[in-house]
Amino acid sequence: MQPPRIIENSPLARLARLKLQAGSVAMVLGNSIHLSGATREQFLRDPHWVAHEMEHIRQFQQYGRLGFLWRYLWGWARHGYYNIPFEVEAREAGERDALLYAQGRPLPPPEQRHPTPKG
Ligand SMILES: [Zn+2]
Repeated sequence: MQPPRIIENSPLARLARLKLQAGSVAMVLGNSIHLSGATREQFLRDPHWVAHEMEHIRQFQQYGRLGFLWRYLWGWARHGYYNIPFEVEAREAGERDALLYAQGRPLPPPEQRHPTPKG
């Protein structure tokens, strides 16, 4: 798999951030991770966050662009942001896979982790 592209100051992620009333947001579209309110370095330093977004990239690959977006928005309408099935899976992956993205460093304590928007 190609390493994802990281896009800082993304207008799309900014919209999501306003909608979710979050301080910082990452949003996956295809093989790109769009950031708002966080720099590339801040994102990459947070292995749980990276693992979470990598799971969305996997979901995107599994379902395709339309399949992913449709299921995501449908899940949002039906369950609310926090309980979108793709978000539940991504939170699990964030816990499970964080060590893969820790680059040999210890995992950060909870207070240094990116807070999941409650939506
Ligand atoms: Zn997510």
